[in-house]
Amino acid sequence: MSNEKSRDILDLYTAKVMPTYAPTVAIASGKGITVRDADGRSYYDFTSGIGVQAVGYGNKDVTEAIQGQAAALTHCSNLFVNAPETLLAAKLVELSGLGGKVFFCNSGAEANEAALKLARRWGHANGGRYEVVTFRQGFHGRTLATVAATAQAWCQEGYDPLPVGFAYADYNDLESVKSAVNEKTVAILLEAVQGEGGVTPATDEFMKGVRALCDEKNLLMVVDEVQAGMGRTGTWFAWQGYGVQPDLFTCAKALGGGLPMGALVSNAKLADVFTLSSHASTFGGNPVAAAAANAVIAVIEKEGLLANATKVGALLKEALQSFVDKYDKVLEVRGKGLMLGLVIDGDAKEIVDALAGQGLLALTAGPNVVRFLPPLCLGEDDLEDAVDMISDALDGVYGD
Ligand SMILES: *Cc1c(COP(=O)(O)O)cnc(C)c1O
Repeated sequence: MSNEKSRDILDLYTAKVMPTYAPTVAIASGKGITVRDADGRSYYDFTSGIGVQAVGYGNKDVTEAIQGQAAALTHCSNLFVNAPETLLAAKLVELSGLGGKVFFCNSGAEANEAALKLARRWGHANGGRYEVVTFRQGFHGRTLATVAATAQAWCQEGYDPLPVGFAYADYNDLESVKSAVNEKTVAILLEAVQGEGGVTPATDEFMKGVRALCDEKNLLMVVDEVQAGMGRTGTWFAWQGYGVQPDLFTCAKALGGGLPMGALVSNAKLADVFTLSSHASTFGGNPVAAAAANAVIAVIEKEGLLANATKVGALLKEALQSFVDKYDKVLEVRGKGLMLGLVIDGDAKEIVDALAGQGLLALTAGPNVVRFLPPLCLGEDDLEDAVDMISDALDGVYGD
């Protein structure tokens, strides 16, 4: 089979697009869990476009919602209101059970930026506090403030001076959080499952401990649900699996069904901290993105994808555990639902490349973790095929 079209696209990309990514495949279309490259080769996408295509590629309901809304109205500014965004806000508040309100934006970083701004605004009015505790191996986005919130050197290098007002603690280590909190602290920002940092779930004890500490010190608990939210771990939002409620949480990636959409969701106490003109976004609550998001939520409900993420996620985890048992170089499987990581004694990229060679796209999460984020609509038959591909890839690299 010829690779000409992919090659041409990749060459033009290399010449004209700033080299922040290093793509090796030019994707042309997608259906369900499968994407097809420009030369017709197909792959199982166990990245979901990095956690975006939760209901699968080309879902009929989502496509029709986008088409219908695009034909009616693509944008009218936030000086006016559109029905899809109001319905989406009401739905997010309902699913969260927090009784608050929503601010819409266009990405995960922007949603976290909004959370940080809201926390500071509240903190200044509540004791003149502004500092936010975040976690090593966490990830919160690429704006300057969210880079400062992301306590990882590879994200921060070259961007000095970073915005001040952050303190870093160790994940799943409550004592370390307690020592990072001082009289200036206003909030604790964390992922319920660290994604980019290595697919590490918070322990039950840690999430409950952070909540208790926030209650004790009058701090805001802010959960970044950009990757783990929208059903990926088997509940709408990953924090719901811990029996705690945050004060604020952020959502993006899977929310817009492939369109750029971010949201900050608050509890009742924080619903009116942002006041007229205190924050804004031109495209926030865009009617096409909001219509897509409403369709995504309806599909997750209609197709029972929360239960599916739990069920199929357990099967995938079990299969991955068998590779831990089989190969010395495969150390551990961790994660929740369909957010799973395989810890390797070696270079995770080597395994990701071998998987692509077998026709399965996966991600790394740090240098030594292979990350699997398949669409939540993954069925058991497709899972079996995928496990065969993973088995062949690992055998190719680690087999004797
Ligand atoms: C991807 C991600 C972000 C950043 O989202 P963007 O839409 O790329 O800005 C923030 N937090 C987490 C946990 C993420 O996984």
